[in-house]
Amino acid sequence: MTKQTHAFQAEVKQILHLVTHSLYSNKEIFLRELVSNASDACDKLRFEAINNDALFGGDTDLAIRIRFDKDARTLTISDNGIGMSAEEAASHLGTIARSGTREFMASLEGEQKKDAQLIGQFGVGFYSGYIVADRITVETRRAGLPADQGVRWSSEGTGEFDLETIPREQRGTDIILHLREGEDEFLSSWKIKSVVGKYSDHISIPILMREEKWDEEKSEYQLTDTWETINKASALWTRSKSDITPEQYQEFYKQISYDQADALAYTHNRVEGRSEYTQLLYIPAKAPMDLWNRERRGGVKLYVKRVFIMDDAEALMPSYLRFVKGVIDSADLPLNVSRELLQESRDVKAIREGSTKRVLSMLEALADSESADDKAKYADFWTEFGAVIKEGVGEDFANRERLAKLLRFASTKHDAGQTVSLADYVSRMKEGQKAIYYITADTLAAAKSSPQLEIFRQKDLEVLLLTDRVDEWMLSHLFEFEGHSLTSVAKGSVDLGDLQDEAEKKQAEESAKAAQPLVDRIKTALGDRVKDVRATSRLVDSPACVVVADHDMSAHLARLLKQAGQ
Ligand code: ADP
Ligand code: MG
Repeated sequence: MTKQTHAFQAEVKQILHLVTHSLYSNKEIFLRELVSNASDACDKLRFEAINNDALFGGDTDLAIRIRFDKDARTLTISDNGIGMSAEEAASHLGTIARSGTREFMASLEGEQKKDAQLIGQFGVGFYSGYIVADRITVETRRAGLPADQGVRWSSEGTGEFDLETIPREQRGTDIILHLREGEDEFLSSWKIKSVVGKYSDHISIPILMREEKWDEEKSEYQLTDTWETINKASALWTRSKSDITPEQYQEFYKQISYDQADALAYTHNRVEGRSEYTQLLYIPAKAPMDLWNRERRGGVKLYVKRVFIMDDAEALMPSYLRFVKGVIDSADLPLNVSRELLQESRDVKAIREGSTKRVLSMLEALADSESADDKAKYADFWTEFGAVIKEGVGEDFANRERLAKLLRFASTKHDAGQTVSLADYVSRMKEGQKAIYYITADTLAAAKSSPQLEIFRQKDLEVLLLTDRVDEWMLSHLFEFEGHSLTSVAKGSVDLGDLQDEAEKKQAEESAKAAQPLVDRIKTALGDRVKDVRATSRLVDSPACVVVADHDMSAHLARLLKQAGQ
């Protein structure tokens, strides 16, 4: 193929513009992104070679090499991984396939802090090279293709890119950055080592640079022909717990999660038994922006004996734990099966169940801890992820009881944030009270000012105030807690039963009788628009309120469905 010019997909143009203009203050992240692509390319080769050893072509020492040329002012990141064919180069480096890109762009355009960490999350990492380069040349050859089918991709990162076939001896990829004016700081071993040390130390493929020697005559450092490894290149999770410091755990977390802050909690275990695996799982401190995007990338990576296999979120974690990050390394899964089969494998299911239990234990340990620090951590966790955990009540039948204990709500007694557990509520129940009462509404203010609460206030009965969108759905799966039914105060004729004394019951009956003529007139006036009109003792100050029949959809849910266009 002779040189051809292609236009970038429209989104790519936008991304390029935004990335180069918005992320400049954090420009060194381009190196992290390109190293991570090189490492992914090595992982992909290892994975494909499981079924096709010939792909290695005798060269199994996978490595990432970084070199710079001061005269040409180029910085090159090379790998001997999977490489790209011409079609792959055109599509992977010219279009953006992933959903979520729109959110990413909105975040860069928006008022919020320009978050450089997001770039990796959304899979537009390659383009970050243009923060420091005014031209990027990619020379690559896909493993398995002949030497005359190399590819050169080149672009100034504006409207278009060039593509041509070139001869190329070695498989894999060179990413050549032609640095912009003023970016010469990246032409230095010291600078590159410090950026790699900061972001890419735990990449499990060695990252190599040529060693420098002091030249007495010229009084400057000169590059030698010896390559040295500049990262630790160790799979942290394979080391024993006692050899790993909390700082190292957190550092590793930041590398795999693109998070700038420390994780809230983590757990590292070697599981033995029917299925043998190591798990290193983290709970982030802050919810990511795409938490509600169900197609978001998985946070947990599956390895088999240190070979990366997949990061299929659904297979490894239930979707209500989609915020968990980490690594699972299995000792006994077969390497040579397809991703599809792995997803159905009983071993993977066992791993998923085991990991779910670990995460729940981690949360329980924080929630039930005596330490104020842990308690505060759990409160923070709940603020960030509580609404997602609630999904689990409906999705994970096996762990429903454990999840119910983790739930936190606002209530009429504690309405600053969601802090009341069902167990707290039960411990405060009044003599004779059988049910756990709740009300759902769009906002806390609406919930609190509902006339339906009047009688509960008067009798000093606590009512849970539920305002998350997921609450109605959750309640359709959670009927009771420790033998107490969950009862809406907005449904039917809330039966206060033993909570009313004889005199009160009698009075209620009498006033209902007295109100009957009025009730009949209102019924006639409203006609078909209501199911029923009746006198009630639940109101104290308000003259009337609307309720739904015991088994009907709540008014709040009806409103939500209407908003969703159903
Ligand atoms: P992501 O890595 O999240 O997929 P990037 O923008 O970083 O997004 O890279 C886009 C795609 O380009 C990658 O998915 C991969 O297919 C391809 N690619 C980038 N760098 C390399 C490389 N060094 N070797 C092989 N393919 C690469
Ligand atoms: Mg990438």
